[in-house]
Amino acid sequence: MHRISLASPTDFEGWRKAARALRAAGISPDAVVWTTEGGPGGGPGAALPAAGQGRRFTVPPVFLHQAAKAVLHRAGDRFNLMYRVLWRLAWEPELMTQGRDPDIARLRLYEREANNALEHMRSAVRFREIRDAAGMILAAWFEPAHRVTEAAAPDFMKRYAHSRFALLTPDRVAVWDLQTLSFGPGLPMGPADPEALTACWTGYLAGPAARRNPSPPPGVGESMAGMPPRHPSPRAARQAQRIARDGAYGMDAPLDLEDVLAQVDVCRRCELWRDATQGVAGEGPLRARLMLVGEQPGDQEDQSGRPIVGPAGQLLDKALAEAGIGRKGVYVTNAVKHFKNEPRGKRRLHKTPTAGEVSACRWWLEAERRLVKPKVIVCLGATAALGVVGKPTPVGENRGHAIDLPDGVRMVLTYHPSYLLRVPDEAARAEAYRALVSDLKLARRLVEAA
Ligand code: URA
Repeated sequence: MHRISLASPTDFEGWRKAARALRAAGISPDAVVWTTEGGPGGGPGAALPAAGQGRRFTVPPVFLHQAAKAVLHRAGDRFNLMYRVLWRLAWEPELMTQGRDPDIARLRLYEREANNALEHMRSAVRFREIRDAAGMILAAWFEPAHRVTEAAAPDFMKRYAHSRFALLTPDRVAVWDLQTLSFGPGLPMGPADPEALTACWTGYLAGPAARRNPSPPPGVGESMAGMPPRHPSPRAARQAQRIARDGAYGMDAPLDLEDVLAQVDVCRRCELWRDATQGVAGEGPLRARLMLVGEQPGDQEDQSGRPIVGPAGQLLDKALAEAGIGRKGVYVTNAVKHFKNEPRGKRRLHKTPTAGEVSACRWWLEAERRLVKPKVIVCLGATAALGVVGKPTPVGENRGHAIDLPDGVRMVLTYHPSYLLRVPDEAARAEAYRALVSDLKLARRLVEAA
């Protein structure tokens, strides 16, 4: 049995290093016990097998994103679960897309719950002004549902860049001294009432934890008392800016379609991921000359991870075939990558994404356009057009002819197949279907002429 002692309950880097060595040495999850006791003889890699054995392997970025969040969960089996998924990935490269697999479902649950705790902490912490030997300081006691204090603290650092603060929790104490964001061990007990906050903080300062993390530096008190505020270090400001812009796991622009596939699932640019099973990226040939853009995944797409394959997709396939277009040669995607829905009993009802959600998701659509470089884009419905054009473009008055986009791409706007499925009158439905086929034929001619 291999006993791996990590430095702390959120020691992701320690886990990663140990997991890599264990995996390379072929040690199965059943033969590993993970602890976070630390102490003498503990710490990262205390019982690691010798490095350099076994073959090298890589894991999908989505796994690392999810594991980095799941590690913040309080569940005692998280390290083991993460290692089991890592272990299985060597033989099951598609594992991360299997939302119904018990390990993947659990990993996602931990990720989601840790994320919720993080969001809650960011919005629910209320600081109060108290005083210590150095002057005024903002202080708060908070008990997060999961161990998210270190992940949340940079956000507070950005908000309170010009004020010292102490964020006290049972897990960690985060201290911003206008120069450095530092962390010490948590406090076993919070204040009995708001007045006791000062005693908690001064008790912490007097304790051994604070001696390891000296705070605040001399002189800071005076600077708070009427002198011009000091600015955070450029590095701290950059870190805070990045986190404010991209969330705690800021992403670089995807370099290829595989990157899009991996990153869409962990996208947190808006809130729609919360109610979706997974992010659904586009699919099709890298150099497709024709791109089809729908609105957002529906129930079936959300479960299968593939765009436009449900009832609307079947109608679309029929119309494509009638227009002489093979779907295999087309890049098919959506303006919005997560399923926006509202639970109604056992069903999940489609909800139209807002302009803000479409705008947040343009990051992906534009990445797909940049990578695929289609000559012609067919927008299925007004939401797709909003995603492509960036401004409202009603279908009725804009369908039936080519629209030239600023980058030279030609766009055709047409009815969304889901709209056709909802038209109650049979004659009107047949008419709309003819229009859809005719618009697809126009797109085919444009591709042939490009
Ligand atoms: N409707 C869409 O626009 N896209 C899908 O993926 C499914 C239904």
